[in-house]
Order: sequence, then C-alpha cells, then structure tokens
Amino acid sequence: MAADRKVLIIGSGPAGLTAALYAARANLSPMLVEGLEAGGQLTLTSLVENYPGFRAGIQGPDLMEEMRQQAAHFGTEIVQGDIVRADLSKPPFRIELADGRAVTTQTLIIATGASARWLEIGSDRRLAGRGVSTCATCDGYFFRNKPIAVIGGGDSAMEEAIYLARLASKVTVIHRRDSLRASKIMQDKALSNPKIEFIWDSEIAEVKDVSRGEVTGLVVRNLKTGHLSEVALDGVFIAIGHTPNTALFKGQLDLDEHGYIATHNGTHTSVPGVFAAGDVQDRIYRQAVTAAGTGCMAALDAERYLDGIPEEVLAEIA
Ligand code: NDP
Repeated sequence: MAADRKVLIIGSGPAGLTAALYAARANLSPMLVEGLEAGGQLTLTSLVENYPGFRAGIQGPDLMEEMRQQAAHFGTEIVQGDIVRADLSKPPFRIELADGRAVTTQTLIIATGASARWLEIGSDRRLAGRGVSTCATCDGYFFRNKPIAVIGGGDSAMEEAIYLARLASKVTVIHRRDSLRASKIMQDKALSNPKIEFIWDSEIAEVKDVSRGEVTGLVVRNLKTGHLSEVALDGVFIAIGHTPNTALFKGQLDLDEHGYIATHNGTHTSVPGVFAAGDVQDRIYRQAVTAAGTGCMAALDAERYLDGIPEEVLAEIA
C-alpha cells in the first residue's frame, strides 16, 4: 500500500522540530503533528540561557517559535492536532487525529516528550515560570544567593538540590516521607551538604503568592501532625518525576523499565521504520540541546532507512 508520507513526526519540541528541519532539507516533505502541548516543555519556561547560539539567552517560547518557523521554511507541513491512535503493526504506519483525519507514513519519528509531574495543588502551576520550576539546570541561575526549596525525595530531587546548592543561599528539600528514595550515594551527598536542609514527612499545601504573581514562600503541612508552617523563599523546584508520553505506543514498541521508549543503534526502536527522539527516550539528560541532537539523528536514521540501508550496516558505519 502506498503511504501518504515518507516521514511523519509526532511532537513539536526541540526533538520533533529538529527532525522536521533535517527531513525537510533532505527533500522528504515531512509532516509534523504538533500535539496538545505545542512547543513542548520549553514553552513553560522563561529565559533559556543554555541553548548554544544565543549569548544573551532567549525566551523559551521564542526559541520554539524560531525552530517552528525554520522547519516550516524548508517545507515541513505542520499540522495542529492531537493523535488519538497509532497503528505500528506493519508499514505503512497509520495514525489518526482527534478530528478524524488519518495519515499513513513509511517512517515515523516519535518525539512526544515527557511531562514533568506537578503537585496539582493549583498554586504550583499558576506560578510556573514565576518562581516555580521543574528544571534546575534551566532556571537555577535565576536564584543565585537566594533561598529556595526542592520538592521530592528521589535521585532527581537530590541531583537538583546538589546543583542548586552551588547557586542558592540555602536549599530546603521537602519530602513527604522520613526517608529518601534516592540512591545511597546521592543521599549521602545531599545529606552532608551544609547548604541543604531537610523537612521530612511534609507536603506543600500552597505556594505563595499567586496574587502577587511571584513566589514568596510555601505553606508546608506536616503529614504526621497536620501542623501547617510557612517557609519564606524565592523559588521552588518540583522534582517528583516525569511521565514519558508513550500511552499511544504501549504494547506496540519496547519500552524500558521506566516506561521510556527503548532505542538502539541511534534512534531505532523495536519496530523498523519507527524512530524515537528527545525526552520520550531519554530520562537522563533531558536538555533542549540533547533533544535537538537526537531529533537530528532520528531524521538521518529515517532517511537511511528509506534509502534501504540495513540497520546492521548503519550500526557498523556509525
Ligand atoms: P522518582 O520516581 O525516583 O522519585 C520521585 C520522588 O518524588 C519520590 O521521592 C516520591 O516520593 C516523590 N513524589 C512523587 N509524587 C509526589 C507528590 N505528588 N508529592 C510529593 N512528592 C512526590 O523520580 P526521579 O525523577 O527522581 O527519578 C526517576 C528515575 O531516574 C529513577 O530511576 C532515578 O534513579 C533516575 N535518575 C537517576 C539520576 C542519577 O543517577 N544521577 C538522576 C535523576 C534520575 P516517595 O519516595 O514517597 O514515593
């Protein structure tokens, strides 16, 4: 059966848009479906200072708009919409959009990202980008010499706390239990850091102050006593894990033990012709620049697949 497309890309963060740029410049006329969170996680941040090429930094939404325009300029067809079904059982692969449209494609590049988990107390989301962040390497620099909190007790929370302790005046880790989930080595590093303090058995009741549009402190609830206390600080980093956006592909593609898409030989997945790039297959680095890098790799891998170069040969020449 002839496919509608040679390359179809799902996701419009740095990975998807970079894959689109490369596929478009290779004359593959890609289609990119943006998804519900167009632009991805960078649209939730403010100044991005660690994407190379912008010495004064660039606003996250502006960076994504530049990438989008660049991909479109070379001929990517960008489609708004959300995919509700993907059939990867045999090529051509078939995807269905929420509005009923269906597209078939010879290759599929999945760049659906991972979503940071939020506390879901309302005030945390409302102050996102205004003192509440889910990314220490993105936003830590704005809190130099200021008191901040990290929420969570896993490796991410410890890693963020240790990183932030180099910048902030003081880091308070707030965890809902009395012991950490993080690996022993990360625990030891965090517990022995003089700039890191811990509040145990506690959850965040409220991030203040939504009415002022900035973070001024936290209302913390002790889960054992119910006692509420206030902690004054300037920033809050939520590090309670990420959820990879793989629901569409469960049972069709191999996932790793954390639910991320398993890749090998670059961006190849367990289904030939299907490639994965960016945070949906990376739970370690999770940076815009690494996502863009794997987006580029996925487009090149798709191009070589379409040229009929077997994967084993690709692995040897890689
Ligand atoms: P984890 O799932 O390991 O930890 C999440 C933490 O957040 C837990 O302490 C959990 O509490 C807490 N939490 C979850 N939901 C809530 C909530 N609603 N309110 C308050 N607290 C909450 O996620 P991570 O992102 O830390 O790590 C993911 C994986 O990546 C792990 O396998 C980790 O080892 C790995 N990783 C490794 C790193 C390294 O080696 N350098 C760095 C970063 C991640 P509780 O403990 O009570 O469940």
